[in-house]
Amino acid sequence: MINWAMPSDLDRVDHHRASPEWVAGLWYAEDAKLLIVDAESRFSTNAGGSKLRMAKPSMEFDSQRHRLLGLLNGSPIFAVEERADGEMHDLREVGFQLTDSELDIAATAAALTHWHRLEPRCPRCGGDTIVINGGIARHCLACGLDHFPRTDPAVIVAVIDDQDRLLLGGKSAWGNRVSVLAGFVETGESLEQAIHREIGEEVDITLSELHYYGSQPWPFPRSLMLAFFARAIDTDINIDDDEIGYADWYTRDRLSARLEAGELTLPGRSSIASRMIQAWRDGEAPI
Ligand SMILES: [Zn+2]
Repeated sequence: MINWAMPSDLDRVDHHRASPEWVAGLWYAEDAKLLIVDAESRFSTNAGGSKLRMAKPSMEFDSQRHRLLGLLNGSPIFAVEERADGEMHDLREVGFQLTDSELDIAATAAALTHWHRLEPRCPRCGGDTIVINGGIARHCLACGLDHFPRTDPAVIVAVIDDQDRLLLGGKSAWGNRVSVLAGFVETGESLEQAIHREIGEEVDITLSELHYYGSQPWPFPRSLMLAFFARAIDTDINIDDDEIGYADWYTRDRLSARLEAGELTLPGRSSIASRMIQAWRDGEAPI
């Protein structure tokens, strides 16, 4: 499973994509590939969803609909939003079984598609916009502003106490699924401030050390998950019912027993939450 820590193989060609002719030329290249994304940001895959299904573009290039994601090993990769036949999956379902470069392609395609659908007008003046730069930006015809997709940072925190127990909790709507806690960063906050606030709000726990663990694009619809491990100073949980429905401390044995008994489930394997919990279970948490 990718840890998103190495350079991407997807070359986003930022230095060239301002030229419409250059982008259009790539569309007609022999090795060009097109990924179809539907209105739910699901993408076209093979049976079982273990591989993206991409084909050589067969229609005329349309700069307003066809998004250049970049070059993969020199081959142009485009995405288009369309209704599609065949199996469609999103990253939550199949991310863990895609290759690193397929993950980059799928995450970028899903995020871009959502943004174009949601924000077709100028955020400053409400004017009409056109797609520029091969699909990664829009230009306002009324006021001239170029605008770009936004990303919402969210912190996700594995809290560990001084007995090496992990704090797991869940919303009531999750059924018996538990996870490490998470929340959005608010305007004007640092990541660390957001962590202290969120963990304080949700379970009333005070933290000491914070250790950055890694990040993961999470285009549902436009989040960036920023993962940390944290040490709890105190262990008395006081739940805010509005935020979560359940939280408790787990030893590795207790978690394994409850999983085996079918009393709990963990986050899907495509999520960074899954990777954080597994790191702790394997004794590889960074704190
Ligand atoms: Zn405008």
